[in-house]
Amino acid sequence: MDFNDTPAEAEFRARARAFLEANLTPKGKERESLQKRLTEREYLAAAKAYQAKKAQAGFAGITWAKEQGGQGLPPIFSVIFNQEEARFDAPSAPFAIGLGMCIPTLIAFASDEQKARFVAPALRGEEIWCQLFSEPSAGSDVAALKTRAVRDGDDWVINGQKVWTSGAHYSDWGILLVRTNPDVPKHKGLTMVFLDMRSPGVEVRPIHQMSGGSNFNEVYFTDVRVPVSQTLGGEGNGWTVALVTLMNERLAVGGSPGPDYREIMEFAREASGPQGGALLADGHFRQRLADWYVRAEGYKLGKFRTMTALSKGETPGPESSIGKIITANQLADITNAGIEAQDHFGIVTEPDVAAADGLFQQSYMWAPGLRIAGGTDEILKNIIAERVLGLPADVRVDKDVAFKDLPAGR
Ligand SMILES: Cc1cc2nc3c(=O)[nH]c(=O)nc-3n(C[C@H](O)[C@H](O)[C@H](O)COP(=O)(O)OP(=O)(O)OC[C@H]3O[C@@H](n4cnc5c(N)ncnc54)[C@H](O)[C@@H]3O)c2cc1C
Repeated sequence: MDFNDTPAEAEFRARARAFLEANLTPKGKERESLQKRLTEREYLAAAKAYQAKKAQAGFAGITWAKEQGGQGLPPIFSVIFNQEEARFDAPSAPFAIGLGMCIPTLIAFASDEQKARFVAPALRGEEIWCQLFSEPSAGSDVAALKTRAVRDGDDWVINGQKVWTSGAHYSDWGILLVRTNPDVPKHKGLTMVFLDMRSPGVEVRPIHQMSGGSNFNEVYFTDVRVPVSQTLGGEGNGWTVALVTLMNERLAVGGSPGPDYREIMEFAREASGPQGGALLADGHFRQRLADWYVRAEGYKLGKFRTMTALSKGETPGPESSIGKIITANQLADITNAGIEAQDHFGIVTEPDVAAADGLFQQSYMWAPGLRIAGGTDEILKNIIAERVLGLPADVRVDKDVAFKDLPAGR
């Protein structure tokens, strides 16, 4: 394992830092993040402007081929930029799904003409994309989805419902996984298409979250017509295409936006402990703090291992699933402890009055979502069990049964 940047990596890091310092505010400098201070419309405008600057300065599509408008650099450069960007309040969330998952899927499967039309505008932040996979009874088992597409001339006619679609309400385009053949086993009858989110028959209904936000939606399709030319990877190959999207998702849903052991340690210097005196003097709390520190260090070293592999041009394996389990659970645990320590004031969420500007309360409400998005804890543990530890595979009784003959398919 080599912890040091190569000269080329160090030069890139310095350039990235200079760009970020010139365009963004460091995290923590303002009491509330940009996303909290601005209305959604203002935040989207700020996000689009920042993405355009990134593209102009050569920090967008870092690993994408030059002919796609990218920089053609190895993945380690993308990791370096993300590390540096994480220290700033960057309005990049609206592009995470499009640039992290949808456009890489288009690059892999769309025609040259389609790539020429869609890749550059997404990279410059002019168009936002969403990912329409999950349904009310198809989340972890997304291949059980029921949204139907039936061919009619040169169009697919689509009927059904998706759920938890992040950003659907402000997206211009979406990639959509549909069932085109219910007579074959569930993974084989799927097809991936992309569509204009303003097509007639698309209805987006926001879901209100406990945080007060509405980041994701239900999306209903009623006789929505999508040109067959907007099929990605060919009819019946939707599962293969979806795996490419999901592989990118595991890489995109990585970090943990919220307080870590350092922040709760700072908070514990001021907060009162259960026996009076500072919380930081409490033995039980100190033990938990040590545990969070050890996990965070383990995670950091695991990431260094991934970075070393990337730096050598190798592909990181399924062990990156371990990182998401650690960060998501650690965030839930730390925010819970931060709220508990505030006793009955823990329910106050307004940054103006809550301790530590309400940091623990806000992140506490986001933590459960992080444990679900991009693969739940249990699904990731299955991946680790099967692909890292080589344990026997989960029992899959529906593998060779036609979808229409499954209880879920009726
Ligand atoms: C913040 C957030 C953003 C999201 N954004 C999007 C988006 O943009 N587009 C999109 O398509 N989807 C999105 N999703 C949906 C997400 O992909 C699903 O919620 C996720 O795949 C889990 O599916 P589910 O909610 O249906 O739960 P289920 O799959 O029904 O799981 C319920 C419980 O059963 C467990 N379980 C399921 N199968 C197994 C198994 N084989 N072994 C052991 N335990 C199992 C799960 O771990 C979980 O605890 C988002 C979700 C979140 C939280």
